[in-house]
Amino acid sequence: MTLLYYDDRFLKHDTGAGHPERAARLKAITAKLAADKLDERCTRRPCVPVTMEALERCHGRDYVTEVREAIAAGKFGRIEQDTVVSAGSYDAATLAAGTACDAVARVLKGEDKTALCLIRPPGHHALKNAPMGFCLFNNVAVAARSAVADQGLERLLIVDWDVHHGNGTQDEFYEDGRIGFYSIHRSPFYPGTGDADDTGRGKGLGATLNVPVKFGTPRKDYFARFQAGLEKMAGHMKPQLVLISAGFDAHRDDPVGSLELETDDFRELTKLVRGVADVHAGGRMVSLLEGGYDVDALAASVAVHLDELLEPGVKKADE
Ligand SMILES: [Zn+2]
Repeated sequence: MTLLYYDDRFLKHDTGAGHPERAARLKAITAKLAADKLDERCTRRPCVPVTMEALERCHGRDYVTEVREAIAAGKFGRIEQDTVVSAGSYDAATLAAGTACDAVARVLKGEDKTALCLIRPPGHHALKNAPMGFCLFNNVAVAARSAVADQGLERLLIVDWDVHHGNGTQDEFYEDGRIGFYSIHRSPFYPGTGDADDTGRGKGLGATLNVPVKFGTPRKDYFARFQAGLEKMAGHMKPQLVLISAGFDAHRDDPVGSLELETDDFRELTKLVRGVADVHAGGRMVSLLEGGYDVDALAASVAVHLDELLEPGVKKADE
């Protein structure tokens, strides 16, 4: 089984029909999971809002207050060049971060080995004191800090395969040796960060690894580089839990990103991460939705990702 999180309140983060990060993304995913009967194979869990204590580990209190008050005062529209808010955005953003923490807590308690959080707004560009790139709060960072502070973990690994570099996540853990950050992303590309030379600082030295990939790189090379980097980071971190910043915008049909990946490539990425989770973390993986902007490609890619999270070992025994 897999813990599956989804809530209609995520649809109330209304960015407008012309915005790539729109509610239709989640509607397409949930429709696809229902059509494929994948949701029936999961344990549904309710989404829960983040505690201020958990949120403020990664974000300044003044920033959180500013976002909440701006939305409460009806200041809708762009709060950053790419990031749009509406009446439901603060609730959606706090629900996204809290859901990520809940998934981590339940997986670490042993309720299930894997969890998939279908949340929005996404998080990996969000900075400590500013929104950025469709993101308000950094869901994966808040969940990783919660795993350490609330659940007592000593080592974990964030794998970010979104086509964009997770600059907010890298910043958060750059000097923290407990939380490893591994990203493969298109480069040169938005947001312009994620150099291979960025490897962490101080106690965090060696706990950040970036694999920048040029557009046009053959998929075979992409996978070889992804796997090599993943194994290097797994050996360095020996993670007790693996978190995935699961963006699906490296898909060939994606209008924002694209590294020409096929739908089934997201099964392969999931399998490779599972290999690391099996060796080091007792199979424990928590996956959080980040990008992915062609709604059909996104829905199909999430479906193969979830199918792979659903314990393939058990499926084989049934065959
Ligand atoms: Zn992205």
